[in-house]
Amino acid sequence: MTNTIPTLPEWSAEEVEQRLLPELLQWSLANGGTIYPPGFNINQAEALTMTLFPTPLPRKALEKAVRVQTTYNELYARIAQDKNGWLSEVTEQLANFDANFTGRLWKLYLEAQAIGISQKIGLGVFRSDYLLDADSGDLKQVEFNTVSVSFAGLSTKVGAVHNFLNESGKYSRNGGRFYESEVPISESAFLLPRALASAADKYNSLTGSRDTIVAFIVQRGERNVVDQRILEYNLFERQGVKSVRLMLHEVHERTRLDPITKRLYLTSTGQEIAVVYFRTCYSPQDFASEQDWKNRLSLELSYAIKAPNLLTQLSGTKKVQQLLSEEAVLAKFLPADRRSDIGATFVNLYPLDDSPLGKEGKRLALEMPERYVLKPQREGGGNNIYKEDIPAFLGTIPEEEWNGYVLMELINPKLNENVLVRGQELFQEPLISELGIYGTILFSDEEIYSNDYAGWLLRSKLPSSNEGGVAAGFGCVDSMVLY
Ligand code: ADP
Ligand code: MG
Ligand code: MG
Repeated sequence: MTNTIPTLPEWSAEEVEQRLLPELLQWSLANGGTIYPPGFNINQAEALTMTLFPTPLPRKALEKAVRVQTTYNELYARIAQDKNGWLSEVTEQLANFDANFTGRLWKLYLEAQAIGISQKIGLGVFRSDYLLDADSGDLKQVEFNTVSVSFAGLSTKVGAVHNFLNESGKYSRNGGRFYESEVPISESAFLLPRALASAADKYNSLTGSRDTIVAFIVQRGERNVVDQRILEYNLFERQGVKSVRLMLHEVHERTRLDPITKRLYLTSTGQEIAVVYFRTCYSPQDFASEQDWKNRLSLELSYAIKAPNLLTQLSGTKKVQQLLSEEAVLAKFLPADRRSDIGATFVNLYPLDDSPLGKEGKRLALEMPERYVLKPQREGGGNNIYKEDIPAFLGTIPEEEWNGYVLMELINPKLNENVLVRGQELFQEPLISELGIYGTILFSDEEIYSNDYAGWLLRSKLPSSNEGGVAAGFGCVDSMVLY
């Protein structure tokens, strides 16, 4: 049987604007599919930029990405356990090329280690991102994120609004379903909080504490607050766990670290913090002062379970991703029968050093840059150098520093017709969609306690933009119709 790809409902531009747009926007306002605009005040959230329709995705592709997620979780947990010192060695090298950030995090880790890391258990809240390669039809990995992965809350909202518009007959002309195949709703908004709660449970079982809380460490001026709040509310409503939002620069004033037990308390209430969940600290801009670095260190030193701890965060560099694409490196962490599934999701990645592979990378970067993207050790979008810009960019930095970057083959994704809705603006265009699979894993330096798939995210962007940052306005949150 060949599965036919669902097409868009045929509505005129006027009908879309007058009938469908209010349905989408008002469902979102009523149910919290919202985000703050730039320069917002607190009472001013607006509907998230999203697609009007779910994007067709082959069921097999989703199933495959879901299936490999627990292997990916385990792979990154094993790297972060750093038993053979592999991550330490890689990161120490990298620190030479990126002293400002990777180097700073590494130094902080060494400092914590010298003082003594009391909590050996960490929680990974990960997201593996993929594009669907147009030629092979296979999912290819863009990157693996190990810190502050976002949109787990809002992904569920966008799936829910698309599902509602389909089930309630709003997409169709006859009041029936438009899409016969499934318009699923991501469970990420519930599964991430479940992982936070189980980390708190683990903490409680070790300390005998009760009524402990989770601290969300968040950015100043964060616009994506609702995405985080959805997790907070589900954490409380479904798991019965309370939480507090703290900004990094407030940590030393609002928390107290017991010098003997290393337990962390919220000063104002005396509540004990079992889990520290980072939605910041992933970019150099998140550290505005030396105090901020000190605060990050004291969180690392506390007995609270970090999501993620520094080593887990450092396992997610682009450099690690590049090294894992070398079979011999991957073999250090996974047996052969578990390597093939995830190996199939890799595209070619190159270092830019003096190794044979690095020399090849340099040649490709200079001779055929149009097929590649150059990536520094950064997160959060907007940092990469694309195609023809690569040689000129490399020309501006000394060759010894090129090794701070990785060169990655560009994935050529299939486009899907959709309508991107940004406020009242509509862009009807073929879009590029990036699938993210969330995964959570609770592990110590010795043991893995639980390892789970935790929902999905589909983000779409206009092909004219190299990057798809939703907050930056280039991209939006989407959902899927499976075929
Ligand atoms: P970040 O950690 O900043 O999110 P990414 O590696 O995800 O960095 O790159 C940002 C964006 O650039 C991706 O969301 C994707 O749109 C685009 N991109 C990155 N790598 C590739 C690639 N190999 N092929 C095609 N597009 C890519
Ligand atoms: Mg990233
Ligand atoms: Mg990314």
